[in-house]
Amino acid sequence: MNVLPFLVAGLISLQPWLTSTPSDEPSRRVVLPQVDVMIDAGHGGIDGGTSHGDLLEKRINLEIAKETYRQLSHKGLHPALNRNDDRAMSDDNRWLKIHSRHLRDLAQRKLMADELAPKMLVSLHVNWSRDSSQRGGLVLYQKNDQSKRLAAELQASLNHLYQVEEKPIYGKTYYILNRTRCPAVIVEMGYISNVTDRSWLTSSKKQKEIAAALSAAIEHYLLMGAQSALPSSGAPAKYMN
Ligand SMILES: [Zn+2]
Repeated sequence: MNVLPFLVAGLISLQPWLTSTPSDEPSRRVVLPQVDVMIDAGHGGIDGGTSHGDLLEKRINLEIAKETYRQLSHKGLHPALNRNDDRAMSDDNRWLKIHSRHLRDLAQRKLMADELAPKMLVSLHVNWSRDSSQRGGLVLYQKNDQSKRLAAELQASLNHLYQVEEKPIYGKTYYILNRTRCPAVIVEMGYISNVTDRSWLTSSKKQKEIAAALSAAIEHYLLMGAQSALPSSGAPAKYMN
């Protein structure tokens, strides 16, 4: 059994003494595993996210996040999940003394990602549109090449599943993209406002397919990154990324 979700949750309580303990005290050092990807299950607890009737985005995010975690682990990769139940991250944040629950939630997610230093962060969300015919996945990226490349992989994978031709977009105003240190993307996995997407996002069979599309893209991104890091005999170093 993989214990990473619990390990990540445990970091919250570790944080106060991690920051207040001298770093040269060996007995208190925490050795963290190399995490390939942190899966950020959007919203939770009092924060339901977008909705349709009784259906709340936070539930969909958590179900697909858990399934993606399972599938990535099955591939032999090392994912981490930042919540594995219906919790409000803002309640876990006892270190940022500000009134805004929303900001405390986002800051807590950033802190967890920064502590674990994963190779990437993939934040899972569900979209909403006034136009109920709008459907498919949409990926938002940071202003750096790794995030763009990851977004392109995820978008292509979701486009194939949904049979749409969306393009990833730059998520200029999003806290999690602006503040997280590792390459990060936000994945809007489909539209709760579209009847077909809604049925996919809530069916366990289709949730597995969405998770498979995400996992395949993440695996491909890691594989391509590993290949581009290998020394090349032909191309000059300046062409390597
Ligand atoms: Zn959301």
